[in-house]
Amino acid sequence: MKGLSENLNEKCAMNKPIIIVGGGPVGATLALLLAKQGLAVTVLEARKQGAAYTESRALALSYGSKRILEKLGVWANLATKATAINTIHVSQKGSFGRSQLHAHDYQQEALGYVLSYGDLSASLDEALSQQATVSFIFEASAENISHTENTASVTYQHQGESHTLSSTLVVLADGGRSLDEIAGLTKETKEYGHDALITKVRAELPHNNVAYERFTPHGPMALLPNGAQDFSLVWTGKKEYITPMLSLSDADFLRQFHEQFGDRVGQFLSVEKRMAFPLKLSQLKTVETAHLVVIGNAAQTMHPVAGQGFNVGLRDAESLAQTVVAATPEKLGSTEMLTAYQASRKSDTKGGLLFTDFLVNIFSNDLLGVSGLRSAGLGLFDVIKPVKQHLVRKMSFGK
Ligand SMILES: Cc1cc2nc3c(=O)[nH]c(=O)nc-3n(C[C@H](O)[C@H](O)[C@H](O)COP(=O)(O)OP(=O)(O)OC[C@H]3O[C@@H](n4cnc5c(N)ncnc54)[C@H](O)[C@@H]3O)c2cc1C
Repeated sequence: MKGLSENLNEKCAMNKPIIIVGGGPVGATLALLLAKQGLAVTVLEARKQGAAYTESRALALSYGSKRILEKLGVWANLATKATAINTIHVSQKGSFGRSQLHAHDYQQEALGYVLSYGDLSASLDEALSQQATVSFIFEASAENISHTENTASVTYQHQGESHTLSSTLVVLADGGRSLDEIAGLTKETKEYGHDALITKVRAELPHNNVAYERFTPHGPMALLPNGAQDFSLVWTGKKEYITPMLSLSDADFLRQFHEQFGDRVGQFLSVEKRMAFPLKLSQLKTVETAHLVVIGNAAQTMHPVAGQGFNVGLRDAESLAQTVVAATPEKLGSTEMLTAYQASRKSDTKGGLLFTDFLVNIFSNDLLGVSGLRSAGLGLFDVIKPVKQHLVRKMSFGK
């Protein structure tokens, strides 16, 4: 039997570079994981170089995701920009039930971290630019992916010209933004009819590294510590409830928000630019595509209530890299290899989707009496240690 390094050398010699469509956080992490193993990779990214670096969208990184970035050597750069979450405080508007999770109860240095999308993209791009086996093509917009028994091909536009590349393995990591119509791939989508409003707010009191998850009759909201004094806010609710909030004056917006959130961090002093996006749950239903695999948000999109989506995407990248490294050269991109990858991801993805959907449904149900049960549930949950332990493990490491 051949050793792993022999496999890798042969894989490089026998196969064309692995193609990754989409150089967002998930695609870029996969490229880095593969490059660190000496594998050749071509990344096609639609945006201009540096265009993502100003994205202030806050990503909630689990403890397990931080460990992936640490192994890749990019965390050292990011550590000063990330804000640790040491406590998660869960409450419900209009009830006394509440629950708290503390990192020190689980022997973890933090429960998670908050990081801006822009900082993460810049660090990953910097690390990739130092990898000799990676060719990162910016402003390359994939328009079509096709696959046959032996290969998959990507047609893309770059500087006004159309190009086609093929490989035994093409990875779609476009965030589910562009290439939905590919033969052999079907998706199941559930529209929540809810939007998420995202922005940053500053409060009167320090955050003390506490993240707040609050369930209101309109929908859940998360307030994540971000930087020395600020919080990133994700506020969800029906579209008709959220949209008017975008055009309120800052003072009126902060008043409404304070009314829903309560007094835990004092008054809210200022708010940055607000934007909203529609929420949906989607997942791949059938994947019958030899030589093509889908990861990250392109494979599954979740409600942001529990901050699971991005972390599940990073675990997709880690698991796919392990499957690629373990595959023999002639099996790279084969149905057998891709079936093994999909099997390795099934329970984590399903768990993330079900857990998120469960939270959204139980806390969005306004039927008389259910709300009392919920707050009793939160209080009870606060004293049941194994349940909390399970939850922390799940949020930190997936399945
Ligand atoms: C508006 C918005 C706000 C969000 N806010 C939050 C939040 O507050 N907190 C949170 O935890 N999560 C949030 N999310 C989810 C989070 O951003 C995703 O979980 C995460 O970005 C997934 O990473 P990804 O690499 O799979 O996809 P993406 O980050 O979407 O990256 C996909 C990449 O593919 C590129 N691309 C797309 N189409 C093509 C193409 N045809 N050819 C080449 N390249 C292409 C894109 O330019 C992009 O760089 C938000 C998502 C959206 C859409």
